[in-house]
Amino acid sequence: MPAATESGAFRIVHTVCSHDCPDSCGVLVTVNEQGRAVKVAGDPANPVTQGFLCGKVAKYLDRVYAPERILYPLKRKPGVAKGPLKRGSEHEAFERVSWDEALDAIAARLGNISAEFGPESILPYSYAGTIGVLGYGSMDRRFFHRMGACQLDRTICSEAGGVAWNLVYGKKLGTPTEDFKLAKLVLAWGANIHGNNVHLWPFIEQARRNGARLIVIDPYRTRTAALADWHIAIRPGTDGALALGMMHVILNEGLEDRAYIDTMTHGFTQLAERAREYTPERVAAWTGMTAVEVEQLAREYATTRPAALRMNYGVQRSENGGAAVRAIAMLPALTGAWKHRGGGGQLSTSGAFKWDKEALERPDLALASPLKRLARVVNMSALGEALEEQGLGTKGLGTSKNPTVKALFVYNSNPAAVAPNHNSVRRGMERADLFTVVHDLFFTDTTDYADYVLPATTFLEHTDVQGAYGHYYVQLSQQAIEPPGEARNNVWLFGQLAQRMGFKEECFRDSEMGLIRQALAIGADGHSARPEMEHVTLDDLKSLGHIPLAFHRDPDGQPFQPYLEGPLPTPSGKIEFYSEVLAAQGLDPLPGFVAPTESRWGEAAKRFPLEFLSRKADNYMNSTFANLDGHRKMEARKSQRLEMHPKDAEARGIADGDPVRIWNDRGALILMAMMNSSLPAGVVTGQLDWAKFSGSGGNVNALTSERLTDIGGGATFYSTLVEVGKSRE
Ligand code: SF4
Repeated sequence: MPAATESGAFRIVHTVCSHDCPDSCGVLVTVNEQGRAVKVAGDPANPVTQGFLCGKVAKYLDRVYAPERILYPLKRKPGVAKGPLKRGSEHEAFERVSWDEALDAIAARLGNISAEFGPESILPYSYAGTIGVLGYGSMDRRFFHRMGACQLDRTICSEAGGVAWNLVYGKKLGTPTEDFKLAKLVLAWGANIHGNNVHLWPFIEQARRNGARLIVIDPYRTRTAALADWHIAIRPGTDGALALGMMHVILNEGLEDRAYIDTMTHGFTQLAERAREYTPERVAAWTGMTAVEVEQLAREYATTRPAALRMNYGVQRSENGGAAVRAIAMLPALTGAWKHRGGGGQLSTSGAFKWDKEALERPDLALASPLKRLARVVNMSALGEALEEQGLGTKGLGTSKNPTVKALFVYNSNPAAVAPNHNSVRRGMERADLFTVVHDLFFTDTTDYADYVLPATTFLEHTDVQGAYGHYYVQLSQQAIEPPGEARNNVWLFGQLAQRMGFKEECFRDSEMGLIRQALAIGADGHSARPEMEHVTLDDLKSLGHIPLAFHRDPDGQPFQPYLEGPLPTPSGKIEFYSEVLAAQGLDPLPGFVAPTESRWGEAAKRFPLEFLSRKADNYMNSTFANLDGHRKMEARKSQRLEMHPKDAEARGIADGDPVRIWNDRGALILMAMMNSSLPAGVVTGQLDWAKFSGSGGNVNALTSERLTDIGGGATFYSTLVEVGKSRE
């Protein structure tokens, strides 16, 4: 499908869904003569999108044209305190200002804060509200580097798993999505494919029609688990133990692929020794499975060819999540599953896209900042600590070397809803001396704390280029419609702010197309100079919408199978069962299972005996879409509910439908009890929602902690202990 075609009174424009999802769908937007988008549809020419969109984005025009969209820059009215605002009343706390006034005031305030407290007292906070290459990280990074503001360690979602995968393979590649149709066994591990990777599903269905089995490992009976041939509901955070138990059985029964191991891997002897400790009986005691089930799973996985593993990022959101991802990632290397087309595995394909990030983000601009060096790094998974502890100086962090955060600039994210330890984040954001700017489409939990709220664009309203973490196609997202009101995109916003801060570098005047050229390193011959994209031209992207990476151009003639030959970009050049890198850091070089501190085996379980899973809703994207009535209706059955095993409920005198209080030392919230006998006993679960939709004023993150993962410094949402009782409120 051409990127933009005319058809009578309508134009059809190729865009790309930029929400945080592996599928990165090609989206065709039909625009009428008046310039209004009247239809969105999946691009039938895109081999992964295959002409359909998920339920979240099929209704996308409800979001684009929502009457609640913020259309103009807003400034907090004098005397209005920061804090939760009732939904629908937010406008009353703000007054409309012009862009000129907002930009001048923000630039002046940031300049003053930088001069008085140092530029490292300014903290940008963004994540994957858009995963378009420009929207995610380009002009914004230039702006904050040039200013000398903190660098943000973007760890909240995928870092632990990504670092863990790279420790094993050196690069995030995986089995092509289209090749899953060839598998005879699909092992979905912490992967709710039907809920949030739905374009993989048709390939799995095709495989199943050809006799493949689908096994799902997930503590929760997701839509995907409900459709599986075998759902294994292990206890949260025990994935690593199970993977090691599978290794034990595989090695005990000689089911490993010695030829592949000898050629492609490093550290097999040490791994084999480690795996010996993980007998099926020990693993059964941790996971809640039987020893026979552990053996059966291992045998089925190791003896079925091709066997495809789809792991998703849920696995790594536990205290030992990095080790768990490493252990699971090693399974296809142990069995040689990469050798069989349709086998192998996928966590992310993002390592295949080599955008020119240096050119886009310009870290060299930090040398022109007052610091004359790169700024300190703040971990986004510990935002509460960054705002509260440093702000109050309780840890003595408010020093000239490590200044108190005095300004927070939020875009592409809603931290007051999604960041762990909600109450700490909220206390930090309530600080009267913290200057906060939020760029978003709607009033959110986070805008309740903003001094300025700036209107942002959807992917229909700006131009961008995009790869994916669930396929191998580069896509161009063309602007389909004008932004409503005075909404502006990230590139424009940070370019304008830079100029008002007096930054003279020409790069702050780059256009979207100029940045896309830089991202692709388009040369004088019109072709990209980036690896695997040398055949990509802007003209082709405009006319085709999507272009496969070079290695994926001829899947029928020369299929792509990763990790078939070395050297790999690891220290040994091989797949690493044993990591010298971790050993040098004093960490366990081999994967091992350590029960999370916050789990049924931890000391805190004496007071808080239930393991709490803060789940993502299938019809929201983290907190995105949760404000739209249509999406809320799709989630009505599980919204504001605490799902618990009837045995756990009975022990507490709780019946289905009772209001219940869930609490730990970090916070509490009130939800309605809902019985779910498919949950492992001792596990309760509630969905992430906006705090302002909860009667008790908080969301599931009131319970989660800022403790970080063993590898990668990620958030540990799924290592949370609570107690539950009938609510008297
Ligand atoms: S959210 Fe994912 S599945 Fe849905 S349209 Fe966007 S990329 Fe496609």
